[in-house]
Amino acid sequence: MIDPHQLSTHLFRELHRHPRMSFLQHCGFIALFALYLAPQLPLYTFLIWVIIAITGGLWQWRISNNFGKDISTKLKSHNLASFKIASFAAGLGLGLTALLLPELSFSTRLFVILMLSAIAASELLKLSAYPIVYISFLIGLFLPLLFVLITVNDSPGWELIPPIMIIIGVLYYSAVQRRRDLIDDLIARFGLENDAGEDKLTNIANRRRFDLTLEQVWGQARRSGVPISLIMIDIDYFKKFNDRYGHQAGDKCLMTVAKVLANSAKRATDLVARYGGEEFVILLNQTTRNDAYQLAEEIRQQVESLRIENLDADLGIVTLSMGGVTVYANDSQESINPLKLADIALYRSKEQGRNQVSWYQADVSSNTTSHQH
Ligand code: GH3
Ligand code: MG
Ligand code: MG
Repeated sequence: MIDPHQLSTHLFRELHRHPRMSFLQHCGFIALFALYLAPQLPLYTFLIWVIIAITGGLWQWRISNNFGKDISTKLKSHNLASFKIASFAAGLGLGLTALLLPELSFSTRLFVILMLSAIAASELLKLSAYPIVYISFLIGLFLPLLFVLITVNDSPGWELIPPIMIIIGVLYYSAVQRRRDLIDDLIARFGLENDAGEDKLTNIANRRRFDLTLEQVWGQARRSGVPISLIMIDIDYFKKFNDRYGHQAGDKCLMTVAKVLANSAKRATDLVARYGGEEFVILLNQTTRNDAYQLAEEIRQQVESLRIENLDADLGIVTLSMGGVTVYANDSQESINPLKLADIALYRSKEQGRNQVSWYQADVSSNTTSHQH
């Protein structure tokens, strides 16, 4: 399956595609409106209308533009909130045209209402990756019209409200449908890609996918300064387990351990991978040393509590040794390889008697390193 983080990145990208084209389209609608409105309105009213209508579109354009620059680091909920507000404003900028209805001839009124419906439909494709954004736009677009239809005692009046509500409902429903199709497409596309990045035995990520992800995440972390943690995990006395219980039992044990790992680290940004043989690795993005250490310790205890028999091991059961590292990225650490550091800590765990977690700790004042439990 495509991971949720990847999925939202793509949906966001869909939402912010071609911001300039969107703005030009917005201006096109305004120009079309202007053609009909200009002869029927006083100059000042007309100019104020133009300014308001353009402002909403500009706002939406600015947000899209900023967002598009570095989509991966800006994937936070407040971005959706700001885009929701900007889309509402863009809708409102055009929708406020309806307040001019009493000043216009009957046929121009109908033209305005027709245009608003066309605009609503044209935004469907652009905004339906997030239907909540689309409905914000629709509310901004139709609110002034509904207000005018209710309050002004003229024709067309309130009898237009039910069909308009139905149009809004149908458009919103289409947006929800389209989002579903989009997600299906993404899963179909990335599902295939993920197959190659998946370990056949354990169904978790394989080394190739892990290496690619680490490179990407580590690059981002270095730029943004957030900590990342990495845990290397090795099954103790696994060769002897295989020798005593057979390769098939060994495979089953690997699957069990993989399941424990996958169930423990399941934030969208965590990545659990089989690094090779009986070695696993967990990448914890934006995770501090304490949190990562605690997770490692929980995993160690969980596997211990399963009490899978291995009479050749110290405790007579299958246990895990782990080595972790937390890197607080900055530019001077460019040459650091977090995997290597985690491996040093893992070696320490083995050396000190297995079935334990060690954490790599760089000594700040010199190049010597120390490790701690
Ligand atoms: P230590 O406690 O020091 O880690 O010792 P160990 O025996 O676990 O480590 P070693 O690296 O010597 O042995 C790893 C073993 O893992 C060797 C191999 O038989 C076994 N192994 C590797 N891949 C697989 C696999 O896909 N299936 C099974 N059943 N066994 C595997
Ligand atoms: Mg090993
Ligand atoms: Mg081992």
